[in-house]
Parts: sequence; structure tokens; C-alpha cells
Amino acid sequence: MAASLRLFTVLGPAQKFQFRIFTKLVRPLSSGSNQYDYDLIVIGGGSGGLACSKEAAQLGRRVAVLDYVDPSPQGTVWGLGGTCVNVGCIPKKLMHHASLLGEAVKGAAKYGWDVPQETKHSWEVLVGGVQNHLRSLNWGHRVALKDKSVDYLNAYGTFVDAHTIKATTRSGKETILTADRFVIATGMRPKYPQMEGAREYAHSSDDLFSLQKPPGKTLVVGASYVALECAGFLTGLGYDVTVMMRSIPLRGFDQQMAELVIDNMVSHGTRVLRGCVPQQILKQASGELAVTWQRQTGGPGSAVDADDSDEFSTVLLAIGREPCTKSLNLDVAGVKMNESTGFIVGSEEESERTSVPNIYAIGDVLQDRPELTPVAIKAGKLLARRLYDGATEHMDYVNVPTTVFTPLEYGCVGLSEENAVQLHGEDNVEVYHAFYKPLEYIIPERNHQQCYIKMVCSRQDEKILGLHFLGPHAGEVIQGFGFAVKCGATRGQLTSVVGIHPTCAEEVIKMHVTKRSGEDATVTGC
Ligand code: FAD
Ligand code: NDP
Repeated sequence: MAASLRLFTVLGPAQKFQFRIFTKLVRPLSSGSNQYDYDLIVIGGGSGGLACSKEAAQLGRRVAVLDYVDPSPQGTVWGLGGTCVNVGCIPKKLMHHASLLGEAVKGAAKYGWDVPQETKHSWEVLVGGVQNHLRSLNWGHRVALKDKSVDYLNAYGTFVDAHTIKATTRSGKETILTADRFVIATGMRPKYPQMEGAREYAHSSDDLFSLQKPPGKTLVVGASYVALECAGFLTGLGYDVTVMMRSIPLRGFDQQMAELVIDNMVSHGTRVLRGCVPQQILKQASGELAVTWQRQTGGPGSAVDADDSDEFSTVLLAIGREPCTKSLNLDVAGVKMNESTGFIVGSEEESERTSVPNIYAIGDVLQDRPELTPVAIKAGKLLARRLYDGATEHMDYVNVPTTVFTPLEYGCVGLSEENAVQLHGEDNVEVYHAFYKPLEYIIPERNHQQCYIKMVCSRQDEKILGLHFLGPHAGEVIQGFGFAVKCGATRGQLTSVVGIHPTCAEEVIKMHVTKRSGEDATVTGC
């Protein structure tokens, strides 16, 4: 394969065309029978679906991938590549970066740069740049499918039976296709509450990254990944932002870390309303949105000036996502899903196998799996290798590192402190921690109060159960440490590594104060 790829790169365009035809003709015979149009049809051309379809095609199978985007209630649609590329990780990270640049510019004067007192940001320029990049990614995905001889259909797939689907294009043209096997990789879409005005006037993350006019004063409903990341970069870009949280921030994450994330956002100017749930959105004659909400609890940390209504220019609903399974006609194929949530339940023996032997599911649609791009991609590739290359490796969903890209990034891998205590008992868990000051923060006098690291260890053998890092470039930091945790490293092994000075990551290796000791965890000196 490598040799043929090398040959391919030195061929001219006409020869490349002939080479593709030739490789199509000499593709190994599939294990699936030719009674079907394809060996494999993948429904959903997002992170998981693209990875799986390309891998299967590379292994010589006849593969098709269907991708279709239902317009959001506000009418937003996008190209090939799924959530991450179009309305998730990529535009989010770019906007997060734009917001961090603003912070850096503010501090630049203290480093000697001659920066105007008032800096201005253009939402239109940012959206233009982001959307241009996304269009190039859409195109890149189409080319990659073509290069790998995967047939791409911009059509909505619904099952007719366990070996047949109907593909419907936007214009309503229907095609019946058969396959030996199917992979469901249809991902998730934002949820909307049963609330007056929600679908009519509110936006979701599906709309935000292509919003044509600046969002202005924004209410963000929800307090998890999507809500906090979007609220964080919108605040950083200079907008007046309120987060409406109904219970706790970042459910499922270490709550001490989550509260520090919130503290940091508040210190940057994000307003947080706790214990509140929106009731109604009405459009005013001025075009502004009047939102009414109910305060469910008071409690510490509630904004003191919280009314039960206010006007906003934009309401961003980030109250979770639901799997795109309900219109797939899974019942006619016999695929079982969790009826109340719509998630597909994987089998005990093989997480990605559904209740029907020739139908598989990967990525966000799978129940109880991390909803992350690298997870969907890896699961898709491994599945294709098991199906078509005799491989035996299964996706390991344990100790998947992740990062929340809030203004101060929060990266983690493994158990939260509370989960570790729940699983192992308080006496068996040792927590090392440190409050540190990034060197770069000193000259511009930036707030470092929330720069914090926590390592959760087994008290018996010091095996690292969880690592939590709040600080600049947390994603870059935690990726490497994720390797150590995945390999079952102990704190001793980690501290045997020599740090890289001066970095924030070295603080992980230097940590020596336990919570149990009650000693001051502030890092002083080198
Ligand atoms: P998707 O990428 O959602 O792809 C599914 C595709 O199938 C879509 O194109 C959909 O339109 C299509 N489809 C659905 N039904 C049909 C049908 N019947 N027929 C044909 N096509 C269909 N993850 C990270 O790892 N890092 C991040 O920083 C990150 N940031 C995120 C930020 C936001 C705002 C959001 C919303 C998500 C973010 N994620 C992030 C999560 C990540 O985007 C998802 O986990 C990932 O995209 C899941 O991949 P998937 O293949 O399962 O589904
Ligand atoms: P989540 O399901 O994680 O969070 C939903 C949030 O909305 C919670 O705070 C929840 O509160 C709140 N909520 C739910 N229903 C209501 C309601 N009716 N009214 C008010 N608030 C409500 O969803 P997200 O969309 O944030 O994230 C989905 C997934 O996307 C994540 O699990 C993650 O895997 C992925 N993602 C990854 C990112 C990354 O890697 N950086 C970034 C963004 C998304 P409560 O806690 O009370 O239920």
C-alpha cells in the first residue's frame, strides 16, 4: 500500500485517473457478497463516519457514506464533515483563540508593545475567516473520500430493512441502496426546551459560528462544555454575557475544578445566574429578546442582581444534545435503542455492535461513551480494521483525556476527586495539589488565582487515578500526561521525570503537598 501511494504521488493527472480505475479493478474481493451494492454503507459523514468509511475503503471494500444536515430551527446548514468540523471543535477553538488574543493584546503593553488603549474586535471578520477555513475543510473531506474511492451521497439515510436503506436528497430524490453491513454514525444535535420562543428566537451552537451579525448582549442557557466554552469566548470578544445555570457547572467533572472555572469566568466579566431556568422568550418590537426565568434555588454564588426577566440580543441554548436516531427507522432494521434517550446501546462483547449483527454504531450515538471527536475517529478506524482486516483491537473508552476550552482551559484525564473517593473510599485516596502562577502572567499582572492542579492517587501504591489541570494550554499539557495515566503510571514514576523549566506543565511533576496535610499548596519559587 505504501509503495502504491508513493507511486501515486509521482504520477501526472491523467495517469492518476488511470491508476484509480486500475486500483478499483484490482481491489481485493470483499468478504461481503456481491448480492449487495456495497460491502459497507456508513450513515453520517462526521468524525466517526469519515474515519470508518475511509479505513474500510483502504482495506479494499466497496464503501459509501451518506451525509445530510437537517437545517437548524434558525435555518443554518453546513457541508461535509459533521459537528466537529462545522459547528463544534474547529470553529469553537478558533473563536476561543480569537478571545485569548484579545487578552494577550491587553497584556502586551506591559511587555513594551505600543498598543492603542481601546482595541476593537470585528465579529464579521472573525466569522468570515472561520467560515472560509471550514469551507476548505468541507472540500478536503470530499477530496479525501474521492481519493479513497468512497462513494459520497449528500442524502438522508433511513433503514428499509437490515440490509437496505433509502437515501433521500434535499430535492426529494430517493435511491434504494443495499449493503452487507452498516455503520450508524449520525451524531447528535442540540436539544430545545419546551418553552415559548425557544425554536423561533433562540440560537444554538449550530448557528453561533456563522452568525452574520455580532451577537451583542447574550444569554447562554446551560452550564456544561458547550455553554461555558461559548460564554467564555463571547465574553473575551467583548460581549456582555450571562450564563444561566440550573444546577451545577460541568456535571460529571471534578466539582472543585468546575467551580474554579466559573470563578475565573466571573473574574473575566461573565455574569452567572445560578439555580435559574428560562420560562419564555418573547421578541420585542425593538428586535431584542425578552427572557423570563424562574429561580429554583438561591444559595451561595447567586448573582445578587438577578431579576426574573431581562432583555438580550441573542439567546444561546446549550442545554445538551440528543442523538440523531429517531428518524432512522431503526425499528424496521431491528436495531434497539434506549427509547427514552434515543442512544444506541452497544453489545456487551463489542461496544460498537448493535442488536442486529450486521449493523454497528460509533461516535456520539452510542450510549454512555465520551462524546468526543478523537473517540469517534478511533472507534471508527478500529471497527473497520476488525471487520475487514482480521484485527482484534477494541476501542478502550477508559481514561480518555479531554479539555474544556474556557478562557482558563481545564484539561483532565481519569477520575474526579469525588468519583475516586466514591469508588475507593476516602482513606484510600491521596490528593496532591498546587496553586501556581504562570510566569507569563507576572508582568501583565494577570489573575492567576484559579491556576490549579490536582492529582488524585491511590493511597496504597500511588497509582494516578485522575489528573486535573487548570491553566493556559491545558489541552497541550494534559495530552502528554494522559499517556502516563493510560499506562497506569504512579506518582513516583511521574516525579522521576525532570521538568521542563519554565513551564506550567512542570508544576504537575513538582506537586508534593497533599490535601490531607492541610499545608499551603501555593507554589513559591522555582
Ligand atoms: P458527527 O460529527 O455529529 O457527524 C454525524 C453526521 O451525520 C452529521 O453530519 C449529521 O448531519 C449526519 N447525519 C445525521 N443523521 C443522518 C442521516 N440519517 N443520514 C445522513 N446523514 C446523517 N469534541 C472534541 O473532541 N473536542 C472539542 O473541542 C469539541 N468541541 C465541541 C464543541 C461543540 C460546540 C460541540 C457541539 C461539540 C464539540 N465536540 C468536541 C464534540 C464532537 O464534535 C463530537 O463528539 C463529534 O463530532 C462526534 O462525531 P460523530 O461522527 O459521532 O458525529
Ligand atoms: P451537556 O449534556 O454536557 O450539558 C447540558 C447542560 O445544560 C447542563 O449544564 C445541564 O444542566 C443544562 N440543562 C439541561 N437541560 C436544561 C434545561 N431544560 N434548562 C436549563 N438548563 C438545562 O451538553 P453539552 O451540549 O454542553 O455537551 C455535549 C457533549 O459535547 C459533551 O458531553 C462533550 O462530550 C461534547 N463537547 C466536547 C467539547 C470539548 O471536548 N471541549 C466541547 C463541547 C462539547 P444539569 O447539569 O442541571 O443537567
